Amino acid sequence: MSYYARPLARLIEEFGKLPGIGPKTAQRLAFHVLNLPRERVKKLADALIEAREKIRYCSICGNLTDEDPCSICSSKTRDNTVICVVENPRDVVAMEKTREYRGLYHILHGAISPMESIGPDDIKIKELLDRIQKTTVKEVILATNPNIEGEATAMYIARLIKPFGIRVTRIAHGVPVGGDLEYADEVTLTKALEGRKEI
Ligand SMILES: [Zn+2]
Repeated sequence: MSYYARPLARLIEEFGKLPGIGPKTAQRLAFHVLNLPRERVKKLADALIEAREKIRYCSICGNLTDEDPCSICSSKTRDNTVICVVENPRDVVAMEKTREYRGLYHILHGAISPMESIGPDDIKIKELLDRIQKTTVKEVILATNPNIEGEATAMYIARLIKPFGIRVTRIAHGVPVGGDLEYADEVTLTKALEGRKEI
C-alpha cells in the first residue's frame, strides 16, 4: 500500500522516471509542485506538452528544432562549406557557446559502440554522406566525444569521406579523454577546435 494519496503517488512515480532523479528527489519535486500556485503548475504542464509537440529533428542536420530546416541550416550568414559532426544536440549547444564556430552541423544521434550493439547503420552516417554528395562542403570536422566510441566513429566516418576529396579534421585533445563534449568549457572547446588536425 502506498503512503500517499493516489494522485501524489503517481506524480512521484513520474518524476522518478526522469534521468538523474532518485526517489528522494522525486518526492521533493512532487511536494514542490503541490505547493505551487495553480497557474505555475499549468505553465509547467503546458511547457512540457508544447516542447514535446513542437520540437522535432531538422531534416538536414538532425538538430532539435521547431522549424524545418533549423535556424542554423537556413541561416545566410553561416559558412556552408564546413560541417561539424557531433554525437548529440547538446554538443551543438556546447559548440555554439564558444561563438567561434560559424559553420553547419551534422548530428549523428549516437556513436558506434559494438558493446551496446550500435552499428554504423544505427546512427545518422548515411544522411551525412548523402548531404556531402549534394552540397559544396569543403571540410568535415569530426567532433565526436574523445572516448573509445567517439574515436571509432570518427575513424569510420573519415574513411568513408576521404574518397570524396574533402578535408577531414578531428578536434584536438583539449577535451579530456573519456569526457563528453557537452561538459567541456568554452575555452577548452575553442582550443580543441582551433587545434584540429587532418586525419
Ligand atoms: Zn538543421
